[in-house]
Amino acid sequence: MKAIQIHETGGPEVLTLVDLPIPEPGPGQILIRVEAIGLNFIEVYFRKGVYKASLPLTPGSEAAGTVEELGPGVTGFVAGDSVASVSVLGSYAEYALVPATQLVKTPEGLCPEHAAAAMLQGMTAHYLSHSTFPLKAGDTALVHAGAGGVGLLLTQIAVRLGARVITTVSTAAKAELSREAGASDVILYTEQDFEAEVKRIMGGKGVDVVYDSVGKTTFEGSLNCLRPRGMVALFGASSGPVPPFDLIQLAGKGSLFVTRPTLWHYIATRAELEGRAGDVLGWAAKGELKLRTEHIYLLADAAQAQSDLEARKTTGKILLEP
Ligand code: NDP
Repeated sequence: MKAIQIHETGGPEVLTLVDLPIPEPGPGQILIRVEAIGLNFIEVYFRKGVYKASLPLTPGSEAAGTVEELGPGVTGFVAGDSVASVSVLGSYAEYALVPATQLVKTPEGLCPEHAAAAMLQGMTAHYLSHSTFPLKAGDTALVHAGAGGVGLLLTQIAVRLGARVITTVSTAAKAELSREAGASDVILYTEQDFEAEVKRIMGGKGVDVVYDSVGKTTFEGSLNCLRPRGMVALFGASSGPVPPFDLIQLAGKGSLFVTRPTLWHYIATRAELEGRAGDVLGWAAKGELKLRTEHIYLLADAAQAQSDLEARKTTGKILLEP
């Protein structure tokens, strides 16, 4: 089978297309034929060596496809089932193994591209809006990278919950997408100071929550946009890690709650995985969650796909197809 491998950490050029044997499912594992691969920012961190992994590595954890073969002891699935997972053991490949406990069936009528596009970013948007800071009608949320993969889904889900959403984006084209997703106010941070704009939009009051995936360049401004006892949910670092800061001094600016959530904490049980995946895949199948999948690359072009993500050229979901 064709697969992408990394033999050393570095730039996008270290992502190489290789021939590998189709893996055999061990106890508790399922072999899937991969039909759509979800690309996520975390794979950039692994490629660069920011997050450590043993090499050689086939990157990727998200995919949708079809069950090919069950490993010993696996029940609940049959060959031919349409499935998706965010815990694939190397999804940048034509075939991949998945722990059966981490695989979900996808609803009828949902294409693999939409299933792969909805899983990781959709469940992230789900836990942020339903669990980390559960939004209710009338709340106001600030969402950075509003036209990004998570950003577009989080905006739609927040609006479903009755919240008002303010977003930040870098270009006018991204602003348009963010508005289509339901943002009531979109700040072009390349032209305007987002902190001052939020204060103007809110009439001097702070927002209830900031969902911040950008990190280094936004974090302090995010804290300054909060209402007393509001929350910054810092869930990514697209611009780099947040520098060390003096918590006591920052707390002096007003009450603050910072949380550093990860998806894995929020799908730690089978019930939670099925609940969140069931919601987002169900909304996607009914067309209630709009998925943008304009950026589909061939598996062989994984380097270009990651390079475009890093260069902020993409919007919505990036997919690879074997
Ligand atoms: P996005 O589609 O959001 O892409 C990143 C976006 O961040 C860019 O398009 C860009 O939007 C913005 N950005 C701002 N500054 C920079 C910069 N210096 N370099 C690159 N991008 C920048 O990616 P995803 O939706 O896949 O992921 C968003 C973030 O969420 C990532 O940091 C990811 O690691 C994190 N994440 C965390 C999860 C968790 O559970 N904790 C799960 C899933 C994702 P613009 O041009 O508008 O500024």
